[in-house]
Amino acid sequence: MIAWAISGAALITGSYFAGWWHDIAQEFQFLISVLFASSLTPNWVLGILSLLSLCALVIFGLVIYSALFKSNVEGPESYTSDEFFELFWEWDWGHGDIYNQTIVALCPRCKTRLEALPPSEPLQLAEMIGYGGSSRVRMLCTNCLFEKQFPGTLDRLVEEVKKQIERKIRTGEHKRK
Ligand SMILES: [Zn+2]
Repeated sequence: MIAWAISGAALITGSYFAGWWHDIAQEFQFLISVLFASSLTPNWVLGILSLLSLCALVIFGLVIYSALFKSNVEGPESYTSDEFFELFWEWDWGHGDIYNQTIVALCPRCKTRLEALPPSEPLQLAEMIGYGGSSRVRMLCTNCLFEKQFPGTLDRLVEEVKKQIERKIRTGEHKRK
C-alpha cells in the first residue's frame, strides 16, 4: 500500500516536472523565434529603442564619471580648514602630509589670524603642577579682542589640532563638512 502511494506520488511529481520542462522548452523556442525573426517591428519603434539605450549608456557613463570625480574632490588634501577647541583652524598640505608650521589659528568670530601670547595673569600653583604643565597660552584676536586661553604651549595646542585633523580623516568625518 505504502509502495503504491510512493510510486503514485512519484508519477504525479514526474508528470508535473515533465509539464514544467515542456513549458520551458516552449518559452525557449519562442525566444529563439523572436531573436531570429526578421523585424516585424516598425522602424520608428526600433529608432526610439536605440535612442533610449543610447541615453541609458550616456547616463551610466555620467554617473561613473561623477562618482570618480567626487571621490577625488573629497580626498583628504581638499580638507584644509575646520573648527577645533572653539577656534577656527586652517592648514596646508605638502607631499600628502600636514606640517605643524602651516596650521594657523583664526578668530571664530572674524577670521583674523590669532596671536599666541603669554597668559594675562600669573599661573596658580595648582596649574603649574596640573595637566598643562607650567605654561598657558592666550590666543588673542587683535581685530575683535576675542580671546581664549589653553593649558600648555602653542606647540602643544597645534599638536592637539593635528591629532584631531588626523582622526577626522581616519574616520571619514572630514567628508561630511
Ligand atoms: Zn576676531
